[in-house]
Amino acid sequence: MMINKIEKSVDMNLVEKDLKYIWHPCSQMKDYEELKPIIIDHGKGIYLYDKEGKEYIDIVSSWWCNLLGHCNPKINEYIKNQLDKLEHVIFANFSHEAAIELCEELIKVLPKGLTKFNFADNGSASVECALKMSFQYQYQTGNKKKTKFMCLSEGYHGETIGALSVGGMDLYAKIYKPMLMDAIHVQAPDCYRCSYGKDRKSCEVECFEHLEKAFEKWGEETCAIIVEPLLQGSAGMKIYPASYLRKLRRLCDEYKVLLIADEIATGFGRTGKMFAFDHAKVSPDIMCVSKALTGGYMPMSITITTEKIYNAFYDDYNKGKAFMHSHTYSGNPLGCSAALAVQKILREENILDNAKIKAEYLNSKLNNALLENPHIGEIRHIGLINAMELVTNKETKEGYDPRLRIGYGIYKRALNKGLILRPLGNVLYFNPPLNIKEDEIDKAVSICKEVIEDFLN
Ligand SMILES: *Cc1c(COP(=O)(O)O)cnc(C)c1O
Repeated sequence: MMINKIEKSVDMNLVEKDLKYIWHPCSQMKDYEELKPIIIDHGKGIYLYDKEGKEYIDIVSSWWCNLLGHCNPKINEYIKNQLDKLEHVIFANFSHEAAIELCEELIKVLPKGLTKFNFADNGSASVECALKMSFQYQYQTGNKKKTKFMCLSEGYHGETIGALSVGGMDLYAKIYKPMLMDAIHVQAPDCYRCSYGKDRKSCEVECFEHLEKAFEKWGEETCAIIVEPLLQGSAGMKIYPASYLRKLRRLCDEYKVLLIADEIATGFGRTGKMFAFDHAKVSPDIMCVSKALTGGYMPMSITITTEKIYNAFYDDYNKGKAFMHSHTYSGNPLGCSAALAVQKILREENILDNAKIKAEYLNSKLNNALLENPHIGEIRHIGLINAMELVTNKETKEGYDPRLRIGYGIYKRALNKGLILRPLGNVLYFNPPLNIKEDEIDKAVSICKEVIEDFLN
């Protein structure tokens, strides 16, 4: 008894200290008065365990980055081996085996033509890098008028100023508008609430006309367009067809606009193929990867591009054409070793093929459990990602007033039951590690069904 008591007080101590010191990301800290921070002690596979030993299913892959489970033995082994050799080295003029080997591995799985790798330490930094690289490329290849960026409404590309400027979500950007650069925001596809009255089957990508019009008007002054391919994640896991990307590729070629694929959320099997662009069978000019790149272990991103773009920067030093862009932790060896382990596991354990079977299983389970629910407007899915849109009325597809915070309410209940169902407004989603097991899917779906029904019906 005594020991229990002491342990408990240590925990309270941690929570209090957390609230004393830590300003948590993307949070109204006042919410933490009611929902205290959960102090996680350790993780294993799909599970996280708090200090009291309570188990949580990490169905959101800890912000979409955990690809192969927590505390994965192989990734651990790779990082530990690297740790005993070299933790970090300046990446200007120096290099190391893990980075080189990683590039060799990635080239095997990347869309054709992407062969040059520029390293940084988070997704937003990779987006900034892609924007600057595009701008400078156009400048140095005689297209000095091409200075504008194009992007899609409700897109999300990170939180730094450049990334926010090409993002379309007011929730994150509105207050900072006076600080942001002026990008061209084009109406994105909205397949659930299609304004052409089509559904996913009858769709002929009518909404692409918005991009056609935008290119007609601004194509000549645009240096690049950035998109989240197939899946607008933060917007609420909105899914649009691959043909949209194929058309966009053609339009970009016609207007000499660089196509930047932000695959930070979609990369490494999340959409059922290695990259979302693989569904469209075309290549972007620049691709940003992060999140699952290291299996969710280490903060790392890579901005990957073509020989053609790389060559536009390659000249005698005094011509001033170099890409003078750097981050202290570029090419960090621990990150590279984790990423290398991820590539080995994906290949050796045939993860993508197995995930396909799991994806079908998960979607049919969720459909059985919740599709009939009067407040689930749609369960859309791609790969293992499944998103449930909460509506007040299935016919009109009317969403709940955001001020009701319905998603957040369900999230809190699910947490009590041991499921991390962090919402995106009125959208609840599953985005689990690719090696989730069927019994774990069963458990997560059953908790999800129970809390949604309890809360809404
Ligand atoms: C998460 C994310 C980013 C930003 O990455 P950070 O590492 O959080 O800076 C950018 N784009 C997309 C599509 C993302 O999902």
